[in-house]
Amino acid sequence: MLKHEFTLPPAHLYPPDDWRLVEAKYADDHALAAETAFSLGNGFVGIRGTFEEGRPARSPGTFINGFHETWPITYAEQAHGLARTGQTMVQAPDATVFKLYVDGEPLYLSTARVYPYARVLDMRDGTLTREFVWTTSAGKRVRVRSCRVVSFEHRHLVAMTYEVTLLDHAAPIAISSQVVNRQDTRPPDELHENRPANPRLATVLAHRVLQPRGAEVAGGRILLGYQAASSRMTLGVGAHHDVTAACPFDTAESAGDDAAEFLVTADLLPGVPIRVTKYATYQASRSVAVSELTDRCRRTLDRAVGDGFRAVLAKQRDNLDRFWERADVQVGTGVEQVRLQQAIRWNLFQVAQASWRAEGTGIPAKGLAGQGYEGHYFWDTEIYVLPFLSYTQPRIARNLLRFRHSILGKARQRARDLNQRGALFPWETINGEEASANFQVGTAQYHINADIAYAIRRYVDISDDVRLLGNIGAEILVETARLWEDLGFYSADGKFHIHGVTGPDEYTTVVNDNAYTNLMARLNLSYAAATVGRLRAERPGDYTALVREVALEPDEAQAWERAAAAMHVPFDAARGIHPQDDTFLSREVWDLESTPPENFPLLLHYHPLVIYRYQVIKQADIVLAMFLLGDEFSQDQKRRNYEYYDPLTSGDSSLSACVQSIIAAEIGNEQQALEYFNYALFIDLSSIVGQTSDGVHIASAAGVWSALVFGFGGVRDHEGQLSFDPRLPRGWTSLRFSVRFRGRQIRVDLTHDAERYVLAEGEPLDVVIRGEPRLVSAQTPAVIKRSAG
Ligand code: BGC
Repeated sequence: MLKHEFTLPPAHLYPPDDWRLVEAKYADDHALAAETAFSLGNGFVGIRGTFEEGRPARSPGTFINGFHETWPITYAEQAHGLARTGQTMVQAPDATVFKLYVDGEPLYLSTARVYPYARVLDMRDGTLTREFVWTTSAGKRVRVRSCRVVSFEHRHLVAMTYEVTLLDHAAPIAISSQVVNRQDTRPPDELHENRPANPRLATVLAHRVLQPRGAEVAGGRILLGYQAASSRMTLGVGAHHDVTAACPFDTAESAGDDAAEFLVTADLLPGVPIRVTKYATYQASRSVAVSELTDRCRRTLDRAVGDGFRAVLAKQRDNLDRFWERADVQVGTGVEQVRLQQAIRWNLFQVAQASWRAEGTGIPAKGLAGQGYEGHYFWDTEIYVLPFLSYTQPRIARNLLRFRHSILGKARQRARDLNQRGALFPWETINGEEASANFQVGTAQYHINADIAYAIRRYVDISDDVRLLGNIGAEILVETARLWEDLGFYSADGKFHIHGVTGPDEYTTVVNDNAYTNLMARLNLSYAAATVGRLRAERPGDYTALVREVALEPDEAQAWERAAAAMHVPFDAARGIHPQDDTFLSREVWDLESTPPENFPLLLHYHPLVIYRYQVIKQADIVLAMFLLGDEFSQDQKRRNYEYYDPLTSGDSSLSACVQSIIAAEIGNEQQALEYFNYALFIDLSSIVGQTSDGVHIASAAGVWSALVFGFGGVRDHEGQLSFDPRLPRGWTSLRFSVRFRGRQIRVDLTHDAERYVLAEGEPLDVVIRGEPRLVSAQTPAVIKRSAG
């Protein structure tokens, strides 16, 4: 049952619309959440949905994936192997600013003076547009139109237009287009070094982060260079302006360390529009000199100017067509369904915005729409986002797995720091090093290793990309398996145990034999052994390279198999459930029913020791294992486990609801499946947990797809066998989605009368539908007619 109350956003805020999020009325009190709802990104650059005029702005931000500052973590008491260096994704200079002056009066958006007004996030076009009429103090009406695109096609490019038309009176106007370094020019009261009490927020850095390394401006083009004070990362920023107007205008430009300006002035007559097109670009690096980055900026700008704004729009649409072709999920018609549809697409669009051009990086937990969780990469990517991407956008899934491989060296070092063999991936990181300052809920989550191994297996099963296994997958699998085999031990009864770890549930820490961890580690061990065998048989070249690369000993794989076979998986026969760990069931049960609503999330209201003492769960743990490793649990165990753990789950993590929805659907609890689904669906649009200003809950956004496809669509791929066991909610008329599986594109169309499984691309495929083997081919789609009732 849901422990958090929530209400849908009021209908006037976002009227139901299939493909667009429309803000039809400017509402001051809603601005903070709207800045997240209207953020744009492409997986490399992210821009919060603040107004061009820069005011009112609650929490502006432009972020570059991976561009971070470091700082020393201070502990009251030191211990060996603690993470030493904090990492925070910092703000890059904001290039979205256009300030407008009419008769010298600055435009300040306020409800009183701006009408009509509409801001539209178009999820097919990938644009944020805005149109409104402003009445100045002198009563002159001014129409402003703006458009913003963060290009999916050109990773480094942001393109914008800002157009002004006087509707009835002439006036002198000025448009000041700016690039502003907000990171180092924030109000002084914000600038005390601060790790917030809420671990979900980002550290505020008091030192000057962006050290200026050159500023130029000429011919409408601004180029700025910076270097982060401590991480030494370099940053290049560029902007280029084109002005179109059927009237004379003047321009002026200037550049300083923290702001550069391109100013356009004109005496404007009514009905004559003036338009500024601005292309902005970002480059960031850990090793490349600033001058090289600004050269790259120059080239990107040359190309964008040559192509023109329309070409940017056309390419944006092409890319999004490609995304939706595979990712879209449709839930039928009717006003309520359109509302769901809009929210579903908004969530999936957020995943695209966080990942489309994530190359050489991970996906920050809050995407590029805010600084929540410091821009760190967690297991969220492998366990929550990769299933969606593996089934719809394998190119991105591959990029993300490659990123993990790129930090394998650091993971090896981390394992050594923790006196272990193999590799231990960081619980949270940007640069590959562990950044969690709280080892109980950070480093202790060793399951991150198995989560990555799991994601590799699932990606390979779905895509059949054995090359990835040979190139990078096997190396990760070997090193992670080595860690498990070294970390665990055999007890007198011959069982293999893993002690002193934290599972996904962060309200129960440093325990022995966390069932999720043991089950996932078992899979990691056996899959590593199977992969070594597979490469030896199928790809001898890759096998030889692997043996050399990881110095594989002849009997290692056997040792992993042995540990996997002997893995202890806690089970309580009397209750027919899996204890979450070896002492979980002996603890006192937290009374969630009587916990005052204002005391959620518990982590902000109770000392960790209080929480750790009870049977109370932050997020799905066993329930998650039952989804990921569904074929290792009987239906009866699934039902019993769900019924035992669901009442103990506080839902204080946004990673919980989508998983609870999937398992509730599987055990036939439609009401709870829908409740949890709706919660995940509106977590950000309704700002349910009040943190929307820090970014988008990306794991939950991808989890929306999972709840639809794995939950209501009943898709599974255990042992690489694609199967469907749909459970269309009674109140829905239909559910349509696609999955890409081993070169096939299968479209699924479910109604209460019939189920259709159509092969849209590729060779016929053997699948299992409701337990029966079926062949899906282009000539004979599998159609199952269902009797009414
Ligand atoms: C959750 C973690 C998650 C992190 C980032 C935490 O609240 O407990 O499982 O990885 O947020 O989303």
